[in-house]
Amino acid sequence: MINPLLDVAGIAVSPDHFIDGRRAASAQSFELRSPIDERVLGRIGEARADEVDAAIVAAQRAFPAWAALTARERRPLLDRFADEIGRRADAFCVLEANDAGVLLSRMRHGVVPRAMQNIRWFAEHALTLQDRAIDTEQAHHLVRHDPAGVVAIITPWNAPLMLATWKLGPALAAGNTVVLKPPEWAPLTSSLLADCAAAAGLPAGVFNVVQGSGAATGATLVADPRLARISFTGSVPTAKSIAQAAGANLVACSLELGGKSPFIVLDDADLANAAATAALMYRNAGQVCLAGTRLLVHASVADRFIDLLRGHVERLVVGDPRDEATEVGPIIHPRQVERVNGFVQRALAAGATLVWGGAPHRYGAQYYQPTLLANVAQDSEIVQSEVFGPVLTLQTFDGDDEAVTLANGTDYGLGGVCYGATEHATDVAQRVCSGFVWVNSFGIRDLAAPFGGIKRSGIGREGGDWSFDFFCDVKDVIVPKRPFRASFSQR
Ligand code: NAD
Repeated sequence: MINPLLDVAGIAVSPDHFIDGRRAASAQSFELRSPIDERVLGRIGEARADEVDAAIVAAQRAFPAWAALTARERRPLLDRFADEIGRRADAFCVLEANDAGVLLSRMRHGVVPRAMQNIRWFAEHALTLQDRAIDTEQAHHLVRHDPAGVVAIITPWNAPLMLATWKLGPALAAGNTVVLKPPEWAPLTSSLLADCAAAAGLPAGVFNVVQGSGAATGATLVADPRLARISFTGSVPTAKSIAQAAGANLVACSLELGGKSPFIVLDDADLANAAATAALMYRNAGQVCLAGTRLLVHASVADRFIDLLRGHVERLVVGDPRDEATEVGPIIHPRQVERVNGFVQRALAAGATLVWGGAPHRYGAQYYQPTLLANVAQDSEIVQSEVFGPVLTLQTFDGDDEAVTLANGTDYGLGGVCYGATEHATDVAQRVCSGFVWVNSFGIRDLAAPFGGIKRSGIGREGGDWSFDFFCDVKDVIVPKRPFRASFSQR
């Protein structure tokens, strides 16, 4: 039995799981609300153990045939998958604006094209996996990237479509089969992805979606010993429990986690450009893992920089994400608004200076004012913890060494931004301990490049060859160049 399709702002979408090429209803369900106005969007299935089991069994059954195809044979199917995403571009935009509060304009111009690219690029790049060889004096090494098996993909609510496809692209292109557990606060675009897979003709069981909460569905999925890999993007506490569950079965995990990245402004920076970029940190209401939320500004230029940034912030349009003019949308959940405000109020109580913002936004219950806090101590909660809302802190420094010490003085190490004269900024950027640093720029991502964090920001890298190294079993077939004579004295 399956449930009727939900009607979300005129878009029909299934609330059910997608297992073995078919929709599957759940015995249990949960209520989904929109962050825009808290209206109920519908009830979504909540997979329990037997439903998670059915998805894993389907993925296991589909694996041998999918893995046996060459990358060249898988590619047209994956290209069709990307085409189907493109055919539903408007639906993806509307759904993610409604359930995650992501700006419709950003979905249209950034996320949906990128989601298609995530599938296409890895399908094409997988062709290069077939012919890797290492030639040494002794032997020919034929390095194979074999599909690993059933992969669990777990995604967060702040970028559900982008992150699902970023992981699905390489996992499927490499010949694995997938069970995706989307975020319970924003599951709709993952459900639509299942429709795309079916329409593209992906064989039943190659791509499965199980809806549900982290505590029930997610925890059951990651504890399953039949998994070959777990690719997770989300928070540090969840990553720790996933790593524990995976560790019990020795299943390899890729963990892309939170951040508290520095945004360094050196004394020779182009302040106008730096301030315009710093205003982008309020994008998606600050619910962006890679945002540079700690502004570290040379003391000699701090006042001018704040004035320039204030000009941008005063012009930010806060409002409904479905409106093309909106630049800052809602916060995902009332619990999250409370959490963000809690961080701000505790920082103020601890002596921080409010430069702007500091309270919920009058636009609606789930909106928060873009906020800047100054006079914050390096060891304070507001500097050390990921807020995941539109809240930045400001600290000043007098020289490069101090900037680098402040930048590296948290447990996180995801990203970073450094503005200054190019050579100077590049030099400082190289001293920042993190997975990536943008020099005089922000947000440039290339599918060929590695992405991931260090310290508490994650384990492993995805992107380009790094995705295939993770999603494949790398095997070396060694053929000696001279006849091999067995001998105990051989080293
Ligand atoms: P979260 O960790 O609460 O949830 C992420 C996903 O994990 C959800 O699908 C959730 O249902 C699931 N989950 C929760 N508990 C689980 C468990 N015990 N076992 C298995 N799955 C479980 O994170 P969130 O609040 O949805 O997302 C925000 C976090 O994600 C932030 O910390 C943010 O920085 C991070 N993030 C990181 C990146 C990156 O690329 N590094 C990108 C986006 C978001």
